Amino acid sequence: MNGPGIELTLAPELRLFAPPSRRVDRVPTATDGASSLGHVVESAGVPLTEVGRLLVDGEEVPVSYVPRAGQSVEVFGVDRPQRIPGAPLRFLLDVHLGTLARRLRLLGVDAAYDNEDPGDPALATRSAAESRVLLSRDRGLLRRREIFAGAYVYSDNPDDQLRDVLGRFAPDLAPWTRCTACNGPLLEADKDSVGDRLEHGTQRSYDVFAQCADCERVYWRGAHHSRLERIVDEALAEFGDGATV
Ligand SMILES: [Zn+2]
Repeated sequence: MNGPGIELTLAPELRLFAPPSRRVDRVPTATDGASSLGHVVESAGVPLTEVGRLLVDGEEVPVSYVPRAGQSVEVFGVDRPQRIPGAPLRFLLDVHLGTLARRLRLLGVDAAYDNEDPGDPALATRSAAESRVLLSRDRGLLRRREIFAGAYVYSDNPDDQLRDVLGRFAPDLAPWTRCTACNGPLLEADKDSVGDRLEHGTQRSYDVFAQCADCERVYWRGAHHSRLERIVDEALAEFGDGATV
């Protein structure tokens, strides 16, 4: 492609999306003189969901700006915490992020997720219909125009994924208020009210404390509780209301 040349500088945190030759300052970049800056940035491999301010010769411009020959463009990452205007903060996760979905629910964060992959068009449509921030490691999915908002998940490690999302969006945390299986709200319960849903041994051994209003799953303080409590305690210490910033 031959056309007006610009110089493109990606913020360090965005350089992983670009080929190695473009991970330096002031990369000479051809444009066609008609494409928007958003298109130029996407062509460099960076999803627009990850882009914050755009500066052209030091002046902030929108993604629709059409760059001209000789201009210098700086691309910054999103601010953290990132504010999502227009709706209560809630998420939709793609099929590869099941562990992250369950951990967000454990912390009371609204996290929709299907075990069966509904496909990219259906995920994008649901993001728009329900005003949910789509979380994915698939850049092609995040490029779909119809999504309400999206975010690239930078790690494939669930511990790092959780810290990434909590640090980026700073959702309100309300542990033990949401069903980790289906995302429904948990209601207080005791052994008497859910007794017919418990195995005989379970009824003797464990302390029931909640039931899902949607799928009726019963929650009790069972064998895995200490592992979940560790996840909750660590998240509250770093990202809860009382955390030091
Ligand atoms: Zn449920």
